[in-house]
Amino acid sequence: MITKHKCFISFKMKDDYYKKRIQDNNDIEMIDKSLDNPINSTNPDYVMQKIRDDYLKDSSVTIFLIGQHSAENDFNEDQQYIKKELQASLYHSQFHGRNGILGIVIPSMYVKIFKGSYKCNNCGNNHNDVEINDDTVIKEFSANYYIQEGHTSCAWSPDERYCLLVRWEDFINNPNKYIDNAFDKTKEPIVSKIKVRPK
Ligand SMILES: [Zn+2]
Repeated sequence: MITKHKCFISFKMKDDYYKKRIQDNNDIEMIDKSLDNPINSTNPDYVMQKIRDDYLKDSSVTIFLIGQHSAENDFNEDQQYIKKELQASLYHSQFHGRNGILGIVIPSMYVKIFKGSYKCNNCGNNHNDVEINDDTVIKEFSANYYIQEGHTSCAWSPDERYCLLVRWEDFINNPNKYIDNAFDKTKEPIVSKIKVRPK
């Protein structure tokens, strides 16, 4: 029997439809919980530990649904819960390792994020223009997708990222392939460059 990695889903209520599709898929093991009230403590480690224990539980991959309302710069939205959910997912606690992070782009966001390719002035090769930034996602995702620490070249290779990104259609056709890939990241050297609370 193949062991599936259990997933926690971080999403905005407006993207509930996609969360339900995942929930209804019998191939996917998930925890049906969302952070819905603030954890009152001034101790940041306690807050992370508490979210880990009470919400993420024994999940090992966090799915982040990237919709129209998941951006750092969306000032009509209160992003504190999805930010905390991702922080706790990235946090390595005493009792539990970090979760892999799989960003799933829902179809209405394809045009905003996947901008095709461009010829690079630096190296002359073609790179994909993937708009993962404050206008599309919270910083907890972008900072661990385009990891800045020690990065000098004009593009990011797969081993230079922690967060993974996938289109909704690709994901739903073969969910556990992407879930497994996200989990495998937790064992790669790039974990040393994870930013839990990016500025
Ligand atoms: Zn280049």
